[in-house]
Amino acid sequence: MARLIPINTFTWELPQTGTMRVPAVFYGDKAAAKALEADVIRQLANVASLPGVVGPVVALPDAHPGFGFPIGCVAAFDPEAGGVVSAGGVGFDIACGVRTLLTDLSVEDVAPARDRIADALFARVPCGVGQGGALRLSDKDMDRMLRGGGAWAVGQGYGEAADLTRCEEGGTMAGADPGQVSAMAKDRQRDELGSLGSGNHYLEVQWVEDILDRASADAYGLRPGQVVVSIHCGSRGLGHQVATDHMAAMRRAAPGHGIALPDPDLACAPIASAEGQAYLGAMRAAVNCALAGRQVITHLVREVFGELFPGCRLPLLFDVSHNTCKAERHAVSGRPRTLYVHRKGATRAYGPGQADLPDFCRNVGQPVIIGGSMGTASYVLAGGARAGELSFASACHGAGRAMGRKQAAKSFPSRKVLAELERVGVVLRAKSFKGIGEEAPGAYKDIDAAAAAAQALGLAVKTARLRPLACIKG
Ligand code: 5GP
Ligand code: MN
Ligand code: MN
Repeated sequence: MARLIPINTFTWELPQTGTMRVPAVFYGDKAAAKALEADVIRQLANVASLPGVVGPVVALPDAHPGFGFPIGCVAAFDPEAGGVVSAGGVGFDIACGVRTLLTDLSVEDVAPARDRIADALFARVPCGVGQGGALRLSDKDMDRMLRGGGAWAVGQGYGEAADLTRCEEGGTMAGADPGQVSAMAKDRQRDELGSLGSGNHYLEVQWVEDILDRASADAYGLRPGQVVVSIHCGSRGLGHQVATDHMAAMRRAAPGHGIALPDPDLACAPIASAEGQAYLGAMRAAVNCALAGRQVITHLVREVFGELFPGCRLPLLFDVSHNTCKAERHAVSGRPRTLYVHRKGATRAYGPGQADLPDFCRNVGQPVIIGGSMGTASYVLAGGARAGELSFASACHGAGRAMGRKQAAKSFPSRKVLAELERVGVVLRAKSFKGIGEEAPGAYKDIDAAAAAAQALGLAVKTARLRPLACIKG
């Protein structure tokens, strides 16, 4: 079994051995490196063995075992060197992501009303397993949504045009091909758009406990004591079905492409192959589905706040997706190349000066929004100056799970978790009582350590620390 070699305080290398084509690297503090599961190390070695991989394969501070690729993993592939695209490298919840809405309310105004706010949000925003969404789509509208993403949703009256400049890709991922999304995938989505889902997806009312970097906080419009609302959800049943369908197709096609899979979960296809292109078209459609979904929920949240706090505005700070594969320019040995960057449980973290960032954040780097848990802090960071060279411009996406759902449910009875949340002043509304234990703050790793490591490495700069006031879960 390969072992991590310490390089510096926050960098650990998994040297290239065996079938690995490139080394892998883990970024995190010593405690995180020690706690890193053997499965993550095995999975990193597998990813580093895939054709056309450009080193290093990166594991971020919140890394934990996933399906094929670890969660908290970044892997880049060069199309000109036989590089592949992998459905498992993006994950099942394609374009799962977080957006944060700003408010002009202060914690003093909102804290006394948190029960009322939680009830109103819980009643308005559909959530939970198999729960229908805010709207039902015809076949034509489904394809329009899959091509248009957030822009489609704004066109339907969900949100404002200004929201789109506050999303990666301007709210619409180009190159979506609804024709590569199966009828079953579309059927699963037919009435799910605008629903939160279950598990770790959340709608959270938070307040800014501390501003940690003035320049980015000013650029983002964050101030101490301010109330913000974060929405974490993905592409629901459609994304899951796209991943399932295309993983099977990639697995079948692998021998024909001369690809020996070290693990069937790593199913992949050459980027230029029919299977690779089909997956990319479908995946981009699923990205648009997630963007449209978060846009619809944004509208519902604004309605609720407008009713409770007349005149209150909730402009979008930013929307980040953390399960994607995107073609991006990165320097490889000093030479700019187009690489297919898989981020699975990882946030893009474009640093200061990146040309394709919107005006409001170009000088300070893009917002990197990371959740902690429903009982601990969450952070807004700014893409860091060294992210480009260290991690293909990526940072962590959260604290990361410290244990699986079953173990968490055993370790943290839901009743106790609820009492603990009440003690720290967080109101929770959840569809699943059992799910509360599975989502216990103790089931997650240390968010402060993850954010500190990202900052120490220069992957991102901590802008603000948020605290939860009210959390809605499926
Ligand atoms: P994932 O994208 O892997 O599903 O989750 C991203 C991260 O969100 C997790 O690693 C965890 O740190 C964080 N998270 C999970 N549940 C909650 C929650 O209820 N509230 C907040 N603020 N963060 C959460
Ligand atoms: Mn997510
Ligand atoms: Mn998700």
